Amino acid sequence: MPPSRRADVDAVREQLGREPTTDFTVVARCSADGAHPLVIRNHPLDAEGHPFPTLYWLTCTQAVKAVARLEADGWIGRLNNGADSDAEFAGALGRAHREYAAERGRLVREAESFGGVGGVHVGLKCLHAHYANHLAGADDPVGAWVAERVEPLHDERPGRVAAIDLGTNSIRLLVAEPNPGGDLVELARDMVITRIGERVDRAGRIAPDALERTVAVLHRYCRRARALHAERIRVGATSAVRDASNREDLVRAVRENAASDMEVLTGEQEA
Ligand SMILES: [Zn+2]
Repeated sequence: MPPSRRADVDAVREQLGREPTTDFTVVARCSADGAHPLVIRNHPLDAEGHPFPTLYWLTCTQAVKAVARLEADGWIGRLNNGADSDAEFAGALGRAHREYAAERGRLVREAESFGGVGGVHVGLKCLHAHYANHLAGADDPVGAWVAERVEPLHDERPGRVAAIDLGTNSIRLLVAEPNPGGDLVELARDMVITRIGERVDRAGRIAPDALERTVAVLHRYCRRARALHAERIRVGATSAVRDASNREDLVRAVRENAASDMEVLTGEQEA
């Protein structure tokens, strides 16, 4: 069982040392200390309707401290210099900014214009925002660089696993770590509406836009699972996918992203 909503709000208040000013959801947790929030996703508008450009916020105090040490060592300046002189790095950083803006725009359309990672348009200014973005499943070269230097944040048990469920209307993610008692400590849980089943009944195939939406979410989920050190990613699909004539497209995307074969449930298993 994940911590209750109230427990999460209490934990985040304690981590931030103040009342959170925007509505949020927890996108990643540490397995330590009651599965405390590691990264939260903020609503793009605060309680008063003002833009809140930092979509992903690092809250684990251990993580915040570790990243602050990198910043104190002058890495923001050095990485910005790197972006000025290395076209490949600059390109990857630019893509991360665009992906971040698009993710924000998925929640509130006009919020796509609030800028890239942490509200920045070029370069970078906060390693915490990039690391949070990496943990949320983004392809963020700065966030991945930070991860290599600060992890593990706490003691970790082996055997972390991820499960992705491709349902008729939504795609769900669960990442968990087994504890010695045999229970699972939940590290991430998410759900995005993709409506992959839309029109399969009528057309017999997954609509191209629904397929594209689903593959994009699958890609981010698998990245998040790996960022949270899942050793295996299992992907299951339900009836809409089973009946689609073009399900091979999805099977291929699963193999590429999850490095496993899509498990299609039979009608009986589904029931
Ligand atoms: Zn932590």
